[in-house]
Amino acid sequence: MDAAAPVVNWARKSALWPLTFGLACCAIEMIATGAGRFDIDRFGAGVFRPSPRQSDLIIVAGTVTLKMGPVVRRVYDQMPEPKWVIAMGACASTGGPFDSYSTMQGVDRIIPVDVYIPGCPPRPEALLYGLMRLQDIIMRESPSAYIFESDGTVHRQRQLGEDELEEISPLDREAADVVSNTIE
Ligand code: SF4
Repeated sequence: MDAAAPVVNWARKSALWPLTFGLACCAIEMIATGAGRFDIDRFGAGVFRPSPRQSDLIIVAGTVTLKMGPVVRRVYDQMPEPKWVIAMGACASTGGPFDSYSTMQGVDRIIPVDVYIPGCPPRPEALLYGLMRLQDIIMRESPSAYIFESDGTVHRQRQLGEDELEEISPLDREAADVVSNTIE
């Protein structure tokens, strides 16, 4: 299977189907990214799906409240493997300016995040940059790292070799650390 990895990964990274999902102001920038001026379709990620069962990418765009957290988790669980997560903006990444009783201080407390995009809000160019970094991560994955159990659970091991870690820039190192973890 790993011999076909470049082809499988290329197909996966070139046909990402994001979930139609927005939580706050960052979602407006995400919507703008899909419009003609920025044209996310150039990266094969313009087919926003209305159902998590048809999506393999969730862009968490906006403030995640504690009340919304279980909903985000449920939507993530309904997405089939392989799937990826982008935390778009300061709120989704860290809680942003809302260090309050009602705001989750980063969506990575409930779902595994592959790429974090800073900004309040990030411009569409930043989302496109984050998308390209995610595509880099997908190209380094091993398709055989997905283990499908008979009870329906999927274990995902996404490991980067040491030499690959050397190649990537410091900007990508945080994302590499995240994907190096074993996610069950
Ligand atoms: S990061 Fe800024 S723009 Fe984005 S949801 Fe939070 S407050 Fe709104």
